[in-house]
Amino acid sequence: MKIFDTLSEKQVKIEKNKKTLNVFVCGLTVYDKSHIGHARTYLVFDALIKYIRSTGQKVFYLQNVTDVDDKIIQRAKENKTSPFALSKKFEKDYHKIEKRLNITSVTKYARASEHVKEIIKQTTTLINKGFAYETPNGVYFRVRKFVDYGKLSKQNLDSLRSGWRIDIDNGKEDPLDFALWKKINTKETKIKKEPIIIDGEPGWKSPWGLGRPGWHIEDTAITEKYFGSQYDIHGGGADLKFPHHESEIAQQESASGKKPFVKIWIHTGFLLINGEKMSKSLDNFVTIEDFLEKYSADTLRLMILSHSIRSPFDYTDESAVASEKTFFSIKNILEKIDFIVKNKKKKVEKETIEIKEFENNFIEALENDFNTPKALAVILELISFIQKKIYFLPSKELIKIKKSIIKMLSTLGFAIPKKGLISGKIEAMVKKRDLAKSNKQFIQSDTLRNKINQLGYSIEDTPIGSFVYKKD
Ligand SMILES: [Zn+2]
Repeated sequence: MKIFDTLSEKQVKIEKNKKTLNVFVCGLTVYDKSHIGHARTYLVFDALIKYIRSTGQKVFYLQNVTDVDDKIIQRAKENKTSPFALSKKFEKDYHKIEKRLNITSVTKYARASEHVKEIIKQTTTLINKGFAYETPNGVYFRVRKFVDYGKLSKQNLDSLRSGWRIDIDNGKEDPLDFALWKKINTKETKIKKEPIIIDGEPGWKSPWGLGRPGWHIEDTAITEKYFGSQYDIHGGGADLKFPHHESEIAQQESASGKKPFVKIWIHTGFLLINGEKMSKSLDNFVTIEDFLEKYSADTLRLMILSHSIRSPFDYTDESAVASEKTFFSIKNILEKIDFIVKNKKKKVEKETIEIKEFENNFIEALENDFNTPKALAVILELISFIQKKIYFLPSKELIKIKKSIIKMLSTLGFAIPKKGLISGKIEAMVKKRDLAKSNKQFIQSDTLRNKINQLGYSIEDTPIGSFVYKKD
């Protein structure tokens, strides 16, 4: 399988072999509700990991949970609650949302607050090697010493520097130097239990006094613990390239002396709204919960996977409605197959469908830079191909086609569409209408059709009888 790597800007191979593939994706900072821009990243990686696993390759998919952060501290103060009560709440909420979105591929979630020991260890290594220094406010990474800084985001550091003023108070040597450890100024010395909360800030003991980790070091300390100093794939939203991922490279390659830190960098594109990036800071976001009030989880997955994973795309209500319709047509064909298989009495043509060709095209699209729009197009092609002859295909073929569609859908992480349950009452009404129709009692038959419609079902007259399905 080949995929585009942000660092080399080339398509690179994802080796499939007996070794477990180690994948890390930046998790959420849990201080607020997550929006469909976040969902884009986590749905894309969920589909990617599910696809890779479907080929027989073992994957360890690790995700961190940023539960120690300035934004959490700030929000907790505003809400007059403790930072951990706040982060626990939003972490729990997110896992509930993940369940609704059928995001089930993560092997392990690692909270920053539970890896402070590893963070202190890596920070100490960086100080000992001269890559970090202590100031009255914390411990900072010495960016000037890591010559590759900027290689991932292709930035000219001098022009970046000139735009930033040195904050003299915090004693930084270079405006680009970033915090590995943030000190808490306190006279408190008796700490019985960690973390201790002082004025709403969580603190742990360290060689540099009481404090908390910076954001970037959390990821490399966590991945070093589970994967070692080098691993296969690092993913995240495109907005994390700089400074977050750039700083991760600097930390880990400096601490271990080994390059490359990761083999492949995969970044998902922005979700835009009216041409601007959807974000909390711009206050232009649609929360996942709000989206799911109107549309299904499969609609969201379909809408997101209909776009190339790296290109930005503009979210509109129309795009959600179009995806809802498309997914409905997929569900509908699966129900129709069940109906035909159940009701077919006539002899049929001995036609077969070359299903293998569609399945191969589907896999080829995914093997080639995880082209999900193309893979979805193959499913839709197969559906439109069989639609015309669906009543004339042998049941055996139809069952094979249905299985194949379901397999492709579940490979991309869609929930298997449940059969639309038709109640006995509806079935009786349909039978009554069929009888009226065959007796040419058209007024009666039309009245019954309207009643069935009003109850939320549609009837399609087919060559083998009435196909009734739930309108969505
Ligand atoms: Zn991260």
